[in-house]
Amino acid sequence: MAAVTQTATPSMWSNKELAEVRDRLQQEIDELEADILRHESEIASGEITQGAGDDQADAGAKTYEREREIALTLNARDLVAQNERAIARIDAGTYGVCESCHKPIGKERLQAFPRATLCVACKQKEERR
Ligand SMILES: [Zn+2]
Repeated sequence: MAAVTQTATPSMWSNKELAEVRDRLQQEIDELEADILRHESEIASGEITQGAGDDQADAGAKTYEREREIALTLNARDLVAQNERAIARIDAGTYGVCESCHKPIGKERLQAFPRATLCVACKQKEERR
């Protein structure tokens, strides 16, 4: 196995590239927030009509639908938080460095998963836990 000679400096990213990633993350936040608002209004409107003489099967389907909406909303909120964290890291100049081992995460991985905060090795360790 070849020795890793890369250093953990974020200089492997140009300012232009960082600005592009930041834009991408910010755009995703905007889209996710629009989604969250939409889901929340669906959840809210579901609550208003609930218990208005629905039969059991109908109520069950509605509960399922509502739970799904809530799960989607929680997931979207989680993604927004992750994107915001990535943007904060770009602003702090620590973007692209693994939070666990402090080695560079790797540009290719970040271009595929811009909100990644762990390198592949640490991510795999975390998933095994
Ligand atoms: Zn790592």
